[in-house]
Amino acid sequence: MAARRPAQLELPVASVRTDAPIRGTLLLAGSPIDYTLKRSRRRRATSFAIDERGLRVAAPWSASQQHIEALLLEHAGWISRKLAQWEARRPPALTWETGSVIRIVGDPVQLVLCPANGRTERQGDQLYVASDSPEASAVAKHVIAWLRAMAMSWFERRAADYAPALGVRMPLIRLSNARTRWGCCYPTGRVHLNWRLIQTPSELIDYVVVHELAHLREPNHSQRFWRHVAEVLPDYEQRRRALRTEAHRYLLA
Ligand SMILES: [Zn+2]
Repeated sequence: MAARRPAQLELPVASVRTDAPIRGTLLLAGSPIDYTLKRSRRRRATSFAIDERGLRVAAPWSASQQHIEALLLEHAGWISRKLAQWEARRPPALTWETGSVIRIVGDPVQLVLCPANGRTERQGDQLYVASDSPEASAVAKHVIAWLRAMAMSWFERRAADYAPALGVRMPLIRLSNARTRWGCCYPTGRVHLNWRLIQTPSELIDYVVVHELAHLREPNHSQRFWRHVAEVLPDYEQRRRALRTEAHRYLLA
């Protein structure tokens, strides 16, 4: 499933010209805006999407650069507004030092660097980090490894809790590191769950776990599939929406 659905605006484009995918910058409302442009032969209209990755333009193969830029300028107000909204939602960059805050199952937890011979463990709203080095990159690597281990045991526990209710056997669980997918279920019965999920609240983790387990019964998104999900999580729609709109707030940059 997609991490979130970006805000979209569909626009018609008429010009005829072919080109390769590009990264561009355009002066919009007085400030330079970076964007990525992806052309597709099947696409009929140009659409803009704005999310945590910035402005992305999807255009028909034949759309000219000039025409695309004219459309961007025409909608400069909407684009600037959306980009500003995303900017305001972006958490400050993590510096990976004592006092830095990460999220564990939705809770804010402060990092406290401790000697490398100590133990990395959570105590209440603090995570004691026994990193080999106080360098940000070393601390980040250490904390992420710890989060991954925690994610694995948490996901396995939740899957074991929900599998009987869904009438499926406990699957083999693997952690994924995907950028845009929370989970994935393979026909072989293996379930991949994104380790980043461990940062989000338990309701959202449970929704992804149940969603992927339900695929062991229905490998599609048919009505039958959603009925299985609803039997176990009657409020799944609310969780699904929250996953799209809220989850990114909990994630490390
Ligand atoms: Zn699915």
